Amino acid sequence: MQSSRLVAILLLAAAAPVAAQRSLDAVQVQVERLAPGVAVLFGAGGNIGLSHGEDGNILIDDQYAPLSERIAAAVAAVDPDPVRFVINTHWHGDHTGGNENFGRRGAVIVAHDNVRRRLSAGQMLRGEMVPAAPRGALPVVTFADGVTFHLNGDTIRVTHVANAHTDGDALIYWTGANVLHMGDTFFHGMLPFIDLESGGSVDGLLAAIDTALATANDTTRIIPGHGRIASRADLIAYRDRIRSVRDRVAAEIAAGRSLEQIQALRLADPYGRTTDFIPPEAFVASVYNSLQSPPHRHEGGTHLHGERG
Ligand SMILES: [Zn+2]
Repeated sequence: MQSSRLVAILLLAAAAPVAAQRSLDAVQVQVERLAPGVAVLFGAGGNIGLSHGEDGNILIDDQYAPLSERIAAAVAAVDPDPVRFVINTHWHGDHTGGNENFGRRGAVIVAHDNVRRRLSAGQMLRGEMVPAAPRGALPVVTFADGVTFHLNGDTIRVTHVANAHTDGDALIYWTGANVLHMGDTFFHGMLPFIDLESGGSVDGLLAAIDTALATANDTTRIIPGHGRIASRADLIAYRDRIRSVRDRVAAEIAAGRSLEQIQALRLADPYGRTTDFIPPEAFVASVYNSLQSPPHRHEGGTHLHGERG
């Protein structure tokens, strides 16, 4: 009896990871070239940016650990040089899951201070506890405001945008190639996930999009965190949808309406479906909660006396 119960518990515990593993088995990593020296890799999880050329490869995000071999093979087909740097756009596991594998292969992991802080400890994500990442997955170079890479004949600017999708987001802009990777400050073709538990906020998200719009022009190729390659016009449409819902929710809060009353107005229904990753009613709830309790700033990392929590 005891042992069969133990087996049942083990099966239950294993079911979720096994299912996730099986769904990744069929994933193929596809490469799309965007400009000389710049490509994007699509697999499962966040879209990966690639800078390649005479100085070696830089990856922007690295999806899930079981995909590392396939990602490395796709990179090698573009440029056989090693991956020298991985830049994380934020801490979520569908963007940082390959850190340990690429670090072991010699890549230097680079991210905002808060990415290291959040990966270093357990985090609540969509109601579930995500355990701390192993030491080898942590960024070894971190920044507060930004950092610039002078490699592969381009100037690649990494800029922190505060309290947007999370509190550790970075935008990466190839100034020569005119390519912009926005991480999860841009979900192209769907409503955004705003991770309030990780310091995200709707107003910070809108500010981040405005920063991106100030950087991009009509010929910029924009890599969203999820979804297909976008243009500045696509990003403007995205910003306007989020802003219109945000402003309506703010007006209803000012009029004394509850979350349930506001959700009944179905303000985001024209922009998404109930089967989406973030259904319209969940997006409205995140906007409501964000406006009701704005995030505490936790920029950290610039204190000369070291890290604090
Ligand atoms: Zn994310």
